[in-house]
Amino acid sequence: QAKAAGRNTTRFYSAELQELLKRRREIQHEMRLALERGEYHLYYQPKVDAWTGRVIGCEALLRWIKPGGQVVPPLDFIPLSEETGFITLLGAWVLRRACFQIRAWQDTHPHLLPVSVNISAKQFADPGFLDTLQSCLEEAGVDARHLELELTESVLITRLEHCLELFSRLKEMGVAFSIDDFGTGFSSLNYLNILHLETIKIERSFLRRAMDSQRGASVLQAIIQLGQSLDIQMIAEGVESQQDVDKLLGWGCRLMQGYHFSRPLPPAALAEWLTTRHQHSK
Ligand code: C2E
Ligand code: MG
Ligand code: MG
Ligand code: MG
Repeated sequence: QAKAAGRNTTRFYSAELQELLKRRREIQHEMRLALERGEYHLYYQPKVDAWTGRVIGCEALLRWIKPGGQVVPPLDFIPLSEETGFITLLGAWVLRRACFQIRAWQDTHPHLLPVSVNISAKQFADPGFLDTLQSCLEEAGVDARHLELELTESVLITRLEHCLELFSRLKEMGVAFSIDDFGTGFSSLNYLNILHLETIKIERSFLRRAMDSQRGASVLQAIIQLGQSLDIQMIAEGVESQQDVDKLLGWGCRLMQGYHFSRPLPPAALAEWLTTRHQHSK
């Protein structure tokens, strides 16, 4: 297109491109510095069995908090860190931090376990991934069953044989995993033929659509039924109201996560949330 528009446009284009590349290099540099400066933090969001009211664990979510207090959401830097390979380093930091949090909660707040950690496709494909995982567990001295991984469907699209191999090694290690954002990838239904998944997290847009239209409701109900017949645990993401809770329970999905219960919180705040909640339910 730039070519068709003539030489001047091409030159303009490349100046713009250079600016973009420069900005990217700056962010990359900032991301690395942020690690040295301790600007990354893990927030934790509870998962709840809405039928019993029990907290069944929580998910670690990465935050970059700049010195001025500005919070950068993960989707603003994780994709770039994947492109540059920095995710390997950052992801290892996340795993290690989560494992040490597990150790702290093992004694004080076992209800918050297991802790699940998001793993990007690139990180999962890294040859050193399992070693990193193993050494984080060992260093923190925690049991593998207290840690879970959340993998998106994009993990499965690339090199399925390699994935199957990794899945069985994870199983040997005792680390469970779930498929995150179920339904948004490409091969959702196909891989159900091959993999014996334990847990699937239903991407929150399915719930939103289910609340908006009969058609959306049918799709979500079908997903839940599919999970039930394959004996796969289903967790609904993005539960924001009591109405959401009631609908999901009516459709047979009792495991939930979302702002209705709690936003992702720093560890101390989540522990506090848990304590208050238990006092109310006594
Ligand atoms: P995800 O793993 O699917 O996480 C769920 C996202 O939905 C989180 O956004 C969470 O804050 C948000 N959320 C939870 N409940 C609700 C709700 O009721 N309503 C709405 N509107 N949103 C809700 P967040 O923290 O911005 O993370 C976005 C994505 O970034 C995550 O999606 C995950 O894919 C990725 N991510 C986060 N932390 C990490 C990490 O440590 N490593 C990697 N590789 N990816 C991460
Ligand atoms: Mg997740
Ligand atoms: Mg998700
Ligand atoms: Mg998501």
